[in-house]
Amino acid sequence: MRVSRLMLVTLRDDPAEAEIPSHKLLLRAGYIRRLSPGIYAYLPLLWRVLRKISAIVREELDATGALETLLPQLQPAELWQRSGRWAGYTAGEGIMFHLQDRQGRELGLGPTHEEVITALAADLLRSYRQLPVNLYQIQTKFRDEIRPRFGLMRGREFIMKDGYSFHADEASLRETYAAMDRAYRRIFSRCGLRAVAVEADSGAIGGSASQEFMVTADAGEDLILASPDGAYAANQERAVSLAPEAIPLPGGARADGQGEPLATPGQTSIEELCAGHGFAPSQTVKVLLLLARFEAGLVQPVLVSLRGDQQLNAVKLANALTGRLGSEHGALLAVEPLTRETLRDWAVPLALDAISFGSIGPHLPDGVLENQGLVVDTSDPRAGFAGAASLPGDSKPSLRRTFLRLADATAAELPAFVCGANAPDTHLVGAAWGTLAPRPETLDLRAAQPGDRCQHDPSQQLEASRGIEVGHIFQLGRKYSSALGATFTNEAGADEALWMGCYGIGVSRLAQAAVEQHHDANGICWPSAIAPFEAIVVIANAADDGQRTLAEQLYADLQAAGIDALLDDRGERAGVKFKDADLLGIPWRVVVGRGAADGQVELVQRSGGLKQELAAGAVVDALLGRLEVERAGLAI
Ligand code: ATP
Ligand code: MG
Repeated sequence: MRVSRLMLVTLRDDPAEAEIPSHKLLLRAGYIRRLSPGIYAYLPLLWRVLRKISAIVREELDATGALETLLPQLQPAELWQRSGRWAGYTAGEGIMFHLQDRQGRELGLGPTHEEVITALAADLLRSYRQLPVNLYQIQTKFRDEIRPRFGLMRGREFIMKDGYSFHADEASLRETYAAMDRAYRRIFSRCGLRAVAVEADSGAIGGSASQEFMVTADAGEDLILASPDGAYAANQERAVSLAPEAIPLPGGARADGQGEPLATPGQTSIEELCAGHGFAPSQTVKVLLLLARFEAGLVQPVLVSLRGDQQLNAVKLANALTGRLGSEHGALLAVEPLTRETLRDWAVPLALDAISFGSIGPHLPDGVLENQGLVVDTSDPRAGFAGAASLPGDSKPSLRRTFLRLADATAAELPAFVCGANAPDTHLVGAAWGTLAPRPETLDLRAAQPGDRCQHDPSQQLEASRGIEVGHIFQLGRKYSSALGATFTNEAGADEALWMGCYGIGVSRLAQAAVEQHHDANGICWPSAIAPFEAIVVIANAADDGQRTLAEQLYADLQAAGIDALLDDRGERAGVKFKDADLLGIPWRVVVGRGAADGQVELVQRSGGLKQELAAGAVVDALLGRLEVERAGLAI
C-alpha cells in the first residue's frame, strides 16, 4: 500500500477528546475517527491491525477444535425474556440498544449472544453423542455504555470474539474451559501483550467460575489485587482478603451492650467522629442505607453495616441482593442511596424525619418505613424510574417496608463498637450485637484493599496494579440451558439440561490495549505480529528518480518475500515522513536516501534502537531473519 493513497491525516497535537496515550495516538496517527460518543470508524490502517488480531484468534481457536460461526445481531426480545435478562438489559442502567420493528415486535441489538446460541443449541443438540461442541464468532457488538470513553476501550459499538461451548457434564465443561484458558494465553502473547489471568466476578452473564485476562497498564479501568508470590490475583470487584485486625474498644461493651450515648454535634462522618473523640475507625460500625430496585417492581430498602474503616464492594452487594431476592423479583435493576432526596425524587409523599441521617445505627427500626403511603406513582414524571414505562402492568414499583439487613463480617465480628444512636447528634459507645440489635446476616461485602493480608498466606500483602480487561472466560453451568429448554438425551436415555461455557475477547479493545502497552514519546510501537505493516519504505526525496526507482524495487521485493510493506511515496519533506513513520509505529523503516546512488539504504527499528546502513539487496534477508522471531510474539 502507498501512503499517498491512504487518506492519511496525522495530527501534531493531542486531540481534546482523548485522555489516555493510546486513544491520543490512534487518533493522531490516523487509525480511528469518532463518529459520535463511543462510535468509531476503523480506518484502513486499524482495520489491518484488527484483521491480524482476528487471524491469530482464529488460528488458536481453530487449533482447539472450536468452529467459527456468525449469529444474528438483531435478537428478539422474547428470547431475552425467557432467560430473564430483558428487563435488566433494557430498563434502568441496562445497556442493550432496543427497538420495535414495523410489526411492533421488540428487538435488541446483540450486546452478547448467550440467548441466541442457546436457542440454537436447544434446536440442534439432541444427544450426548453430539457433545461437546464449541462455537465462536467475531462480530460487532452493541452496548449503550453509561460512560463510553477512552476510544476503543469502552465503545458503544465494538468488535468482540465471543464463543460458547456445550457439554454433557461439568467435567467436560471444565476441560474446554481449561483449553480456552491455554488458547487465550497463547493469543495474547502472540499479539505481543503482557496479560495476567485474574479471578473475576461473573456479573450479569451469570454462572460459577470465571477468569479475566488483564493487560497491565496504568490507564486500565480495572484494579487488580495480587499476592507477591503469584498464587492469587483477582479483580477488586471479586477479591477477598483478611481485613486489618480491629483495635479493641477500651472499656468494651457498656450499658449491657446498649451503648452509652455520646454527644457528637455536627459529626456526621466516621472521620469527624473519630477526630472528635479519639476513636479508631475500626472501633466503629457505619451504616449505609440503600434502595435496591428489582425488575418485578420490588423496591427493597437495604441496611448494610460495615466496620468504619472498610469500604463497601458494590459488586459483592449486588450479587448478595440478586442471590436473596432475584429468583422471586427478577433482575436487580439498580442500587441507589436512600436519602431524603431519593425519596422526594420518587414523589413519595413523606418526610423521613424519623431517620437521623448522619447518626444512623444498625438498630434503625423498620418503623421508619411504615405508615407513609410508600407507593410510587409512576404516572408522575418526577418518579425518576427510567424503566417504569417498559415494565409489565402488574409490576408497578412499590417500596417494601422492612429493611433487608446485611453486615460485613468485619462489622458483625466486633464484640463492642461505636455507632450512630438514631437520634440527632448522638452516637453510642460500647454497643454490642445481640443487645443493641440482632446480629444481622453476615457476608463478605467489603472491598479488599492493597496492603490487606492474603487469605492463602497472611504473611503476604495484596499489591495493586491496573489492568485493561481484554478477555473473560466463564463456566456458565446450566443457567441459560435450563431457562431456554436446551436439553439433550444422556447415555442413560434421560433428558437433562446442557452444561455451558462462554468465552469473550474484546478484539478492538485489545488493539488499543496493545498501543497502551507499546508506545513512546514519538508514537506507537506496534508488536510486529499485529502491526498494520511490518516495514515502511520511505523515499527521502521523492523528486529524486534514483531514490524513487530503488524504493519501488525494494517495496516490490519485500512484498514478494511475504513482508507486509508500506511505501511512503509522498512529496513531503523527509523529516515529516520520518515523524509520521514513528507516529504510525511500523516496526521497521527502510530509508532510501542519498546512499541510493550507491545502492545503500538505512534500516531502522522503531523500538529497540537498531540502525544499520546496508546494501538494498540485503534488506529482505535481514528483515526476514528478524521477523521470524517477532511474528511469534512474546514467549509464554
Ligand atoms: P467491562 O467489565 O469492561 O464492561 P464486560 O465484563 O462487560 O466488560 P464481557 O461481557 O466479558 O465484558 O465481554 C467480553 C470482552 O469484550 C471483554 O473482556 C472486553 O474485552 C470486551 N468489551 C466489553 N465491553 C466493551 C466495550 N464497551 N468496548 C470495547 N470492548 C468491550
Ligand atoms: Mg467481563
